[in-house]
Amino acid sequence: MANTEITVYGAHWCPDCRRSKQFLGEHQIPYDWVDIEEDTEGEKFVIEKNEGKRIIPTILFSDGSFLVEPTNAELAAKLELKTKASRNHYDLIVLGGGPAGLTAALYTAREAIDTLVIERAAFGGQAAGTEKLDNMPGFPEGVAGIEFSQRLRQQSERFGVELLQAQEVTGLYHHGNFHCAQTNDGSEYSASALLIATGSRYKRLNVPGESDYLGAGVHFCATCDGPFYKGKQVAVIGGGNSAAEESLLLTKFASQVTILVRRDKFKASAVIQEKVLSHPKIDVRWNTEVNQFIGRDSKLTELRLLNNRTGGKENLPINGAFIFIGLDPNTGFLAGNRILLDQWGFVVTGHALLHGDHRPKGFEDRDPYLLETSVPGIFAAGDVRDTSTKQVVSAAGEGSTAALAIREYLKSV
Ligand SMILES: Cc1cc2nc3c(=O)[nH]c(=O)nc-3n(C[C@H](O)[C@H](O)[C@H](O)COP(=O)(O)OP(=O)(O)OC[C@H]3O[C@@H](n4cnc5c(N)ncnc54)[C@H](O)[C@@H]3O)c2cc1C
Repeated sequence: MANTEITVYGAHWCPDCRRSKQFLGEHQIPYDWVDIEEDTEGEKFVIEKNEGKRIIPTILFSDGSFLVEPTNAELAAKLELKTKASRNHYDLIVLGGGPAGLTAALYTAREAIDTLVIERAAFGGQAAGTEKLDNMPGFPEGVAGIEFSQRLRQQSERFGVELLQAQEVTGLYHHGNFHCAQTNDGSEYSASALLIATGSRYKRLNVPGESDYLGAGVHFCATCDGPFYKGKQVAVIGGGNSAAEESLLLTKFASQVTILVRRDKFKASAVIQEKVLSHPKIDVRWNTEVNQFIGRDSKLTELRLLNNRTGGKENLPINGAFIFIGLDPNTGFLAGNRILLDQWGFVVTGHALLHGDHRPKGFEDRDPYLLETSVPGIFAAGDVRDTSTKQVVSAAGEGSTAALAIREYLKSV
């Protein structure tokens, strides 16, 4: 990347400004934000650069050059992100450059299997956006998510993996023994095998303050971040099985766990409900919604609550909040494809494919490999896979497992 000293001049109401900021954020590229509605110097600068017109976003780079209302493709080009592959065909194309995808890629490239990784945002996936990974084996003091991701990227580059960035896979199709991935710029790349490692996204509440305190009081994983709250007070948001189970886990660390449930009952199973409701450290508030996350000095301190039955509002002082309202797998691009998904949209793999009455097409003469999908030659690993454990180490482990199965599969085509 050429440089990362960037200033985005825009306004809070401007959708193109939001898009540009989101693009930079997703690619982990730091920038300064100037809202020209509030900053007259900033407004003057924009008008001067645009010959008297007030066009936003105007994005200034440290070499003095600037872009006005750039498309994402123009931004990617300016930032020298590699968006085109050097060839059209590879042994393996990995979709998604998170821990699962990059680990698989470094395994295969190291064995001289031509590997292309297509990533729509920053390499490292969800791990790149995590302030600190405290449970990574081999890092006794923990490791910043961004540092871990950079190391993973460097390691895969050392073995010759070709990496594409700012390219979203929009569809897959199959042509004889080849599988083809289409990207948002209209390119098509084919390969003898594909690995789907596109991960998933924790559902968010989308209320004010939520994104401001991500990793600084707002969390999505008790196994990952619960130990930071020893002796502290935490809130759990959600009423399903995972909210209840994670609350029980949090009682091992926190002094008090308050579960905030939007409805007047849990959706969790009866056994777990009983454990939760009888736990001395757990307090449950029904009909309660979080309307705002409030903090001080970049750290969450309070939740603004609404009782949706009485209309009553109050602030709950809290050290941390864990949101468990579900996960969305990044599998939208598989719509219309014959890759089998579970009821939530996660990819089904391996022996689970043989549980129905009919074997999937192409598996008449052999069983699927571990982590192979219902389409022979297409594999899946990490958070995008059903029954995966949603941890960095297990995603990386699944990446290596998939790589070894892909190596075997490639011997047959
Ligand atoms: C806030 C937060 C904190 C966490 N903390 C921890 C922790 O402390 N310890 C721990 O073990 N785990 C933690 N996790 C979970 C961990 O980050 C994930 O389990 C892990 O990153 C999953 O890896 P993955 O490669 O399967 O998927 P992801 O990390 O989700 O990577 C998938 C990649 O695919 C890309 N992608 C998606 N769709 C497309 C497409 N159509 N085209 C191209 N690219 C695409 C995405 O941009 C992404 O980069 C945390 C997660 C979050 C959100």
